[in-house]
Amino acid sequence: MCLSQVAYLQLSRIRLITMCPGTIALKMGDITALKVDAIVNAANNSLLGGGGVDGAIHSAAGPELLEECRSIGGCPTGEARITRGYRLPAHWVIHTVGPIWRGGSHGEDDLLACCYRSCFALAEQHGIKSIAFPAISAGAYGFPMDRACRIALREMASFIEKDCSAEVFAVCFSQRAYQSYQNALNLPPAIPRDRSRQSSP
Ligand code: ADP
Repeated sequence: MCLSQVAYLQLSRIRLITMCPGTIALKMGDITALKVDAIVNAANNSLLGGGGVDGAIHSAAGPELLEECRSIGGCPTGEARITRGYRLPAHWVIHTVGPIWRGGSHGEDDLLACCYRSCFALAEQHGIKSIAFPAISAGAYGFPMDRACRIALREMASFIEKDCSAEVFAVCFSQRAYQSYQNALNLPPAIPRDRSRQSSP
């Protein structure tokens, strides 16, 4: 997709600065369809399933995922736990619990950053080389999308600086999420305004 290439190009500047060949790519779509080593679930503290991306992952993975999650016994906010992917194309699911947005002065930024770091720590431990993230906390948990995407990209860039062979996907389930990642990258809008005017009848 053209937009991905633009984002990719921009991120390659980060790679140039860090001298690192790891990649970060923006991807529109449903995370449950991705054939990567691991997808990340924006779970709740119980790890027993919920709505949003959590519900989508559980329904695509099948009941065995819930069974394994039940055996884990929950997860504190900012931490992560790993399970198998069962019927998903991804081999692993890394479940992390993002902070609920409470105005921004309750450590939300740090907790969100901890989520990404915890996921990357598990990825390292399990030899995971390709990993896809939804915009953690930016749905039902109410974290402002632009702010969440800035934190996500900062942590992703910091990880690929260390693990040069990693492929990280920032999965956007909405145009809003895509736009926020673009804003974080300071990319121009997807279709330049002048050109969109010219092409209208
Ligand atoms: P949280 O409770 O952490 O906010 P949500 O699941 O409500 O978690 O939302 C987190 C992000 O995941 C939101 O940006 C939402 O649009 C996105 N999302 C929801 N379903 C999917 C999916 N199937 N694939 C990728 N992203 C998804």
